[in-house]
Amino acid sequence: MDLWLIEHQTNNYKLNWRVKGIVCHKRTKVQDLLVLELEEFGRALVLDGAIQVTVMDEYIYNEMITHVPLCIHKNPRKVLIIGGGDGGALREVLKHGTVQKVHLVEIDEEVIEVSKKYLPSMGDSFNDPRVDVVIENGKNYVANTHEKYDVVIVDSSDPVGPAVTLFQKQFYKNCYRILNEDGVLSAQTGSPFFYKKTLNRSFNFIKSLFNHTHLYLACIPTYPSGLWSFTIGSKKYDKSSGNPEKANNTKYFNAEVYRSCWGLPEFVKKILEGDVEF
Ligand code: SAM
Repeated sequence: MDLWLIEHQTNNYKLNWRVKGIVCHKRTKVQDLLVLELEEFGRALVLDGAIQVTVMDEYIYNEMITHVPLCIHKNPRKVLIIGGGDGGALREVLKHGTVQKVHLVEIDEEVIEVSKKYLPSMGDSFNDPRVDVVIENGKNYVANTHEKYDVVIVDSSDPVGPAVTLFQKQFYKNCYRILNEDGVLSAQTGSPFFYKKTLNRSFNFIKSLFNHTHLYLACIPTYPSGLWSFTIGSKKYDKSSGNPEKANNTKYFNAEVYRSCWGLPEFVKKILEGDVEF
């Protein structure tokens, strides 16, 4: 049988993966949830038809969204992850010996259950005693919590469906509120090719709140266009004082990657300045 997953990015562009087998498929309270065994890419988590992670390259995204802010903060002890139900970002945060407590706020508990069962290279991280899971919309959690964090990591799905609110100014304002006075935020801000407006808005929302705001990039084969952006908002520490040597046991991130990931192509600089139509 010749089975393919087709991910529709635009009316004119779609990505196709050859499927070896369907591992699990269900409709949760929040979204359509699928775990596939793909040829070459290995197991994949697919939410509402969009690939979130594949075992082949998840380490790039998960290392970049976590080690960059954790290396900018001088002594990260308490970390909040919004989204991240696959457990990949959580696995990377837990590699930092200074981290004593991680709260992970995921809207869909079934993503976590499925990841523990079928994606153990990420899902096993939920067994660490430093981890507390909260099943809630991240938007409401950051609006209501009295907790304070050293680092907040927004590991959300793309800005459609339940994740839309995680790209709005009020959400970033609340992230700022719950960060300590030397706190650092990192957020995935999408593809500079397909999410120009989202990238421009999220970056500038964050810039309007934090003393230091930096965009950085990585290439992730699974994601549409490959090129992916992340934004740092930092209350006190500039990226120049980060210590990338603190991250160890990585497959992608290292001191050279830390130094080079801030270099932005001209068209990305223009997106940040407001040129989102070209
Ligand atoms: N690496 C992925 C990417 O960029 O495509 C994201 C990984 S992770 C699977 C995204 C998670 O965010 C999903 O499990 C989804 O259920 C969760 N999520 C989406 N909207 C949310 C919200 N409003 N609050 C909390 N979690 C949310």
